[in-house]
Amino acid sequence: MTTLFISDLHLEAERPEIGAQFVEFLDNEAVSAEALYILGDLFESWVGDDDPNPHYAAMKQAIRRLVESGVPVYFMHGNRDFMIGERFAAETGVTILQDPCPIDLYGQSVLLAHGDAYCTDDVEYQKTRAVIRNPEWQQMMLAKPLEERLAIARAVRAESQARNAQLSEEIMDVNQATIVDAIRDAQVDVLLHGHTHRPAIHDVDLNVRQAKRVVLGDWYDQGSVVRWDDNGFELCDMPRSVS
Ligand code: MN
Repeated sequence: MTTLFISDLHLEAERPEIGAQFVEFLDNEAVSAEALYILGDLFESWVGDDDPNPHYAAMKQAIRRLVESGVPVYFMHGNRDFMIGERFAAETGVTILQDPCPIDLYGQSVLLAHGDAYCTDDVEYQKTRAVIRNPEWQQMMLAKPLEERLAIARAVRAESQARNAQLSEEIMDVNQATIVDAIRDAQVDVLLHGHTHRPAIHDVDLNVRQAKRVVLGDWYDQGSVVRWDDNGFELCDMPRSVS
């Protein structure tokens, strides 16, 4: 049996082809998996579980279908969908994981994370992250009317796009020392994350031993998945079939 990992789909109504590939992936591949882990930024934006967006509803249904078929689905928040809450979990049947989360996979110890917490060169971003991940801040946001939250999300997104266009590639990637610390502290063989949209398998030198850092890709132009079984893991692209 295979355990599957995906992240950074950035699902939204404006990009229906990503949603279509996601549903196809759930119905055809994930249905025979041992488990599916979604490591954040499943959705491009999430302002609260009460958003009646029909595209999101269709995605939730597809996840529910997979869970009901007997495949456990785990979800970790990303920096886009960190407002996903208990109602979403109840509606879909997913189990929400803390970031980071250590797991044992076929005899290997693996640390799962979204990845944004390792981008410590971007000091401004880390300050914002600390604020928006605070439960009190989230309660304050959720108390606002849905329309207001959607307007705020649009404004924040435009601002972040403008800001990211100004930042260097290095600042938006993970910090190597932070990665080494995270792997050392968790004492794992592998760190598996997304967020940076730079799919790759890196060797990490811890002096006394070697570890690996596996980075999932985004789904903008094609899918990206890590398939893990008894024999180890592979990081694969999933080309989008033209239909
Ligand atoms: Mn992200």
